[in-house]
Amino acid sequence: MDYLLTDEQKMIQELARKIAEEKIRPVAAKYDQSEEFPWDIIKVIAASDLFGLFIPEQYGGMGVSVLNLCLATEELSRACGGIAVCYAASALGTFPIVLFGNEEQKKKYLPDLAKGKKLAAFGITEPEAGSDASAIKTTARKDGNHYILNGLKHFITNGGDAEVYTVIAMTDKTKGARGGSAFIVEKGTPGFTFGKKEDKFGIRASSTRELIFTDCKIPKENLLSREGTGFIVTMKTFDISRPGVAAQALGIAQGALDLAVKYAKERRQFGKAISSFQGIQWMIADMATEIEAARSLIYAVARMVDAGRTDASKESAMAKMYASDVAMKVSTDALQIFGGYGYMRDYPIEKYMRDAKITQIYEGTNQIQRNIIALQVIKESAK
Ligand SMILES: Cc1cc2nc3c(=O)[nH]c(=O)nc-3n(C[C@H](O)[C@H](O)[C@H](O)COP(=O)(O)OP(=O)(O)OC[C@H]3O[C@@H](n4cnc5c(N)ncnc54)[C@H](O)[C@@H]3O)c2cc1C
Repeated sequence: MDYLLTDEQKMIQELARKIAEEKIRPVAAKYDQSEEFPWDIIKVIAASDLFGLFIPEQYGGMGVSVLNLCLATEELSRACGGIAVCYAASALGTFPIVLFGNEEQKKKYLPDLAKGKKLAAFGITEPEAGSDASAIKTTARKDGNHYILNGLKHFITNGGDAEVYTVIAMTDKTKGARGGSAFIVEKGTPGFTFGKKEDKFGIRASSTRELIFTDCKIPKENLLSREGTGFIVTMKTFDISRPGVAAQALGIAQGALDLAVKYAKERRQFGKAISSFQGIQWMIADMATEIEAARSLIYAVARMVDAGRTDASKESAMAKMYASDVAMKVSTDALQIFGGYGYMRDYPIEKYMRDAKITQIYEGTNQIQRNIIALQVIKESAK
């Protein structure tokens, strides 16, 4: 389908596709096995300026564009969902500073993030607070010109490898969700350490670690926005980052379909290529149509956000939910087309199915996305 992309958007898409095909695809299986952080690929992405796609020009970026970020993430994910998320998670950690940072904070942190010299991460999830983020227990106590952080975040993407962390902590527990605040915490701050690195089912090239705060003293200047706005910062961040997760899912789905079609044309049974069987053709037709529907939805939502609409929670949730469900279904069907070979690690397809699963879980599970969508639909119908 022709999405009428501008020349600049096509250039970004082609650049990311070239990196994906030439640099990422050859090493995707290696990083999946070793679970090493793919620093060599991150350097290539940084050199290509793709980290600038989510940062304003005055701070060294190329201007914030959710559509550009989606185009890049989709292409990188087509070759490896795990490596792509190392890139996209830096956008997630950076968005709170872009959206809510003051001039000093933006000047201090964004230029290095725009150049990919440093990576960012976002931390809200805790062992007892996943879908119910308002149950977080990490505290930030004001102490003169500082805040003292105590608590533990887990499952944090880029944890340990990022330099800049945006973290949500309670400044006033008595106020419930209105008592949360957002902070910037730098790696290396005394009292800030990392716990265990998770051994994961998919996206194994990405790092997922605990963040541990033990009397971690940060300057009061590291508060984002005002005390009490931590959950607003989170929701507004997710509104613009969820299309990126959707794009990750989309790239995984497209990558799986590409491999399945190629295999179907090569694999012969009953004296014919399996691509000539109607049963396989119908699967391919459904996969391709669902992928295109997901792509249309994601690009439309990204364009809506880029046009300045700040009320895109429902649409962002729809894009994330739909694209990730498509990725899971398409990658499962793609493996089916490979038959028994698809089940073997020697073939690249099973990784797509493993990488797809996480997109239904993080940045809010798809059950939570459905809650967001339904509540908004019901609210709109009452108008
Ligand atoms: C690999 C990985 C990377 C991650 N990266 C980050 C990160 O960078 N930063 C970060 O802060 N977090 C991150 N997370 C955390 C992720 O966002 C949470 O895992 C997710 O929000 C779900 O929380 P939970 O795992 O505690 O599941 P739970 O909240 O315990 O959910 C368990 C099940 O119950 C369902 N459920 C819960 N509440 C409801 C409800 N109200 N209605 C219907 N169903 C419900 C859920 O959908 C799910 O199926 C990451 C997680 C993983 C696995």
